[in-house]
Amino acid sequence: MRADRGHLNAVLHSAKEPSAEQYQRFSQFLTRTYRREVPLKWEEDPSIKEGFQMQVGSDVYDWTLHGRVRQFQDYLRQLRPGQEDIIPLMRQAVDDWDPAVAPEEFGQVLTVDNEIATVGGLTHAQYGEILVFASGVKGMVQDLRRDDLSCILFGDSEEITAGSMVRRTMKTAAMRVGQGFLGRVVDALGIPVDGKGHIEAETHRPIEAPAPGILDRQPVNTPMETGLLTIDSMFPIGRGQRELIIGDRQTGKTAIALDTILNQKGKNVVCVYVAIGQKSSSVAQMVENLRRRGAMDYTCVVSAPAGASAALQYIAPYAGCALAEYFMYQGQDVLIVYDDLSKHAIAYRALSLLLERSPGREAYPGDVFYLHSRLLERAAHLSDERGGGSMTALPIVETQAGDVSAYIPTNIISITDGQIFLESDLFFSGQRPAVNVGLSVSRVGGDAQTKAMKAAAGAIRLELAQYREMEVFTQFSSDLDDATKRQLSYGQGLMRLLRQPQYAPFSHHEQVIILAAAMGHVMQDIPLPQMDGFRSGLTAYVEDQAPDLCRRVDQTGLLAQEDREEIVALAQKYREDFLKQRKRGG
Ligand code: ATP
Ligand code: MG
Repeated sequence: MRADRGHLNAVLHSAKEPSAEQYQRFSQFLTRTYRREVPLKWEEDPSIKEGFQMQVGSDVYDWTLHGRVRQFQDYLRQLRPGQEDIIPLMRQAVDDWDPAVAPEEFGQVLTVDNEIATVGGLTHAQYGEILVFASGVKGMVQDLRRDDLSCILFGDSEEITAGSMVRRTMKTAAMRVGQGFLGRVVDALGIPVDGKGHIEAETHRPIEAPAPGILDRQPVNTPMETGLLTIDSMFPIGRGQRELIIGDRQTGKTAIALDTILNQKGKNVVCVYVAIGQKSSSVAQMVENLRRRGAMDYTCVVSAPAGASAALQYIAPYAGCALAEYFMYQGQDVLIVYDDLSKHAIAYRALSLLLERSPGREAYPGDVFYLHSRLLERAAHLSDERGGGSMTALPIVETQAGDVSAYIPTNIISITDGQIFLESDLFFSGQRPAVNVGLSVSRVGGDAQTKAMKAAAGAIRLELAQYREMEVFTQFSSDLDDATKRQLSYGQGLMRLLRQPQYAPFSHHEQVIILAAAMGHVMQDIPLPQMDGFRSGLTAYVEDQAPDLCRRVDQTGLLAQEDREEIVALAQKYREDFLKQRKRGG
């Protein structure tokens, strides 16, 4: 059976390199079995817990614990009743044990198409299992049929030819994970793409994992501050929450996620940024930005750029999530950004059409809701028994012409715990971050806000809503009474105050100072163009005059009534000086 088979190679897989003696024994086994010298090579495979697996041409020998047990079970099955004297038989079984080729572990490529291969002969393959093609390219089983299966390819389909061999790995897709991934950029398979060399992984985690159950969770009760006034004051995000960032192209969606990552500096939060279908150059630029600001120290970027195959873009968010879970289950707080899930859905649609699944609404397959729900459900705030870690997810979705009722946006809106809705008109009028206050919401809301922030922000949302209403009403009227004029200018001031440049997140006490002063109507008559200068001058002034108060606010998250009064008093004082100085200057 195994005599003349042309050129033969043997590859030995195991977690640890075999000793010289073991090498010799394997070589002897090979010469004995194949009646000639077969070159033997070793490859590390950390997934093999005990023993070895050897591949010779298309034969696989299983000396792993799993293989031995299986073979032994076969042996026992042959026993007939009455053969009670099992001990010597068992001993014989162990002694005689020579692994047999497991034929069902190999198949043949039937057809190969752009990104998809169909494979025959693998009757025992599982959904989601990784297959290895003769060229070394890996694939993942997606559709199982009676006689064959389809798998998506994680490499070049041109290297695969019909009729070539395919090997089962018995493993579902897993992501290499570990502390070493912080500061690095990897692709969807966990392979570094930043040219900084190999990453030492601590372990593997399956890329698809069930979400923590209800008993393993606790309510979201700790803020995950973005450092952006608009969001932290009105749409606070909590650790373990899923908040969607949604808007047309070029409305500052990525900017909000990046500022949130920057704002985690020194807060012991691990960040994972998953870039799906973006230009490699934008990802590189973004990484450079993060690195320059010291944020890469606690961040890992998983990138499946526009040039990568749809299969890689499809698994990228799950791979990123597996990495985030690794940190979460160690009790750490994690922030994960999926930028963006519209492109993810498009990649999945491309794959599904190639797999000949029937298209539904907008040509997406029927399970596109599940595509994102199973991903976002994995965000959680774990109970203290499970370590108390958390994963906060910020998925990003791009809309077309502000249409939130399209298929993917409605799906994701219904999955997440709120959305930050960004608007082109606001963005172009200079109101950045371009958050539409009326359409944005955070359903976890107040629980994820410190008491200080809640006390300082007061009814800012309501006041902005009133302002917007009044603005619409008074658009065309020329003579307004004084009270209305004051209201309008107050609203304009508030809107101006909420503008914030990129890469400049505010600390907790800075936000509290600004909001408390604003709600105390201190900013009323500050000319709009000078609002920025006033804001930064004010925070510096209060920090200087009341350093203890600032520290207390940061540490306790509380703002006593007298503290608030003190801030307003200080702000009023600063305002007088500011206006006086201006008069003198002008
Ligand atoms: P895309 O749809 O291309 O992914 P996006 O919605 O993610 O775009 P960004 O890339 O974040 O948008 O931002 C678009 C541009 O606006 C960028 O040049 C960015 O620097 C700028 N920008 C974003 N936010 C602000 C801000 N708060 N202040 C000033 N400029 C900003
Ligand atoms: Mg973007």
